[in-house]
Amino acid sequence: MNLTEPQAGSDVGALKTKAVRAEDGTYRITGQKIYITWGEHDAADNIVHLVLARLPDAPFGTRGISLFLVPRRIVKPDGSLGAHNDVRCVGVEHKLGIHGSPTCTMSYGDEGGAIGHLIGAENKGMAAMFTMMNSARLNVGVQGVAIAERAFQKALSYAKERLQGKPYGLSHEMPDMIPIIQHPDVRRMLLTMRTQVEAGRAICLANALALDEARHGASADAREWAKGREEVLTPISKAWCTDMAVEVASLGVQVHGGMGFIEQTGAAQFYRDARILPIYEGTNGIQAIDLIGRKLGLQNGAAIKSLLDDCAATADLLSSPMPEIAAALSAAHRRLVTATLWMQETMRKEAVKGLAGATPYLKALALLTGAHYLGRGAIAATKKLQEGQGPQTFLTARVQSAQFFAMNLLPQAHGLADAATRGASTIIDASIDELSA
Ligand SMILES: Cc1cc2nc3c(=O)[nH]c(=O)nc-3n(C[C@H](O)[C@H](O)[C@H](O)COP(=O)(O)OP(=O)(O)OC[C@H]3O[C@@H](n4cnc5c(N)ncnc54)[C@H](O)[C@@H]3O)c2cc1C
Repeated sequence: MNLTEPQAGSDVGALKTKAVRAEDGTYRITGQKIYITWGEHDAADNIVHLVLARLPDAPFGTRGISLFLVPRRIVKPDGSLGAHNDVRCVGVEHKLGIHGSPTCTMSYGDEGGAIGHLIGAENKGMAAMFTMMNSARLNVGVQGVAIAERAFQKALSYAKERLQGKPYGLSHEMPDMIPIIQHPDVRRMLLTMRTQVEAGRAICLANALALDEARHGASADAREWAKGREEVLTPISKAWCTDMAVEVASLGVQVHGGMGFIEQTGAAQFYRDARILPIYEGTNGIQAIDLIGRKLGLQNGAAIKSLLDDCAATADLLSSPMPEIAAALSAAHRRLVTATLWMQETMRKEAVKGLAGATPYLKALALLTGAHYLGRGAIAATKKLQEGQGPQTFLTARVQSAQFFAMNLLPQAHGLADAATRGASTIIDASIDELSA
């Protein structure tokens, strides 16, 4: 996907790459794109670039962007590869992480114009690109879950092997050191890692299911409901799962102690690789703005209400078998309902205040959503345990995950909701001079 240019990052509408109509129905593309993932490589015979560009008579901003398919090598009518198109990689970035993925600066049209084929209609390129960007946002969320899972597995095995310290208060009585996994603070780190990975996986899975059902659901109503759920969950999957990946990878380094900072253990690589995830595919700040600016008003607020209602229903289901989780979920649900109403109203009346609280609001909602899915997992696991089905340790671990998340991580949702709804003035009232002082 070729969107980004030096002056057009989050503000895609500022892009300047030009497309000119040619007589044969194709277009000639000229301009420069930066940070293009796998923009050039020798792992395939041909590369197909999807390039956003602007026609000479296009309207200003994102309304004047069209999407073009630009092959590196021209494909002949018989399907074989012909001449090199007028597109080349003029630089490869040196990065903090993801060293297996070439990030390229691409130049189009140095010799008169790269041949491009229009995808969709002229000036409707953003809508066409969003087909891919929406699934790419979910995929990046899944990347976050995947890196975080690897970081957890590595930290877990290290914590079982590394011997250090004695049980608290028994230093003089025990000659041998114990594996660090026995220390409460290390357990806290490991459970923070594991349960957030589980919550992130559940959110992405629910997102993917909604995406499929929005296309293939049995009825128009079912498809519309699923579309609303997909749209609300997408910024949460992208932003929360990738911020979570950075946090989990950082905890992975911490569990390793000094060895985490040394390259040979591999813990540091997860941290470096995870760091791009909150940046590309729309920064997490942009995801939070999408959530409060577009998604909270979707279907007249019905899409977000349905997610919040589901969280309340899970709290009800948990009230008799697991009252502690139910109480935590219920309290966070109530706080998120008021925060959501505040956010919806504020976005209508004084959007700048809402924007200042977008990121903590997204995080609070994600924590509630994660607790809700883990709660559902705990209900299913308990049922299987009662029926004597399935691997017992695995099932009890799912109940523990829901408990840990509800008691140790979900309480943050209250503080985050407070920050989102009450902290705006301190953010927007500060002058640039005060901010810099
Ligand atoms: C390794 C890598 C691979 C990439 N791959 C691709 C690719 O394949 N194709 C492609 O097209 N691009 C790619 N990108 C580009 C990537 O999508 C952009 O870097 C990203 O969208 C942010 O744009 P920017 O870097 O210009 O940052 P900026 O837009 O300058 O943002 C800087 C900061 O300001 C914030 N900000 C900006 N505007 C606003 C706003 N309106 N409201 C609130 N906050 C705002 C951002 O959240 C961010 O924190 C890649 C980047 C990297 C580093």
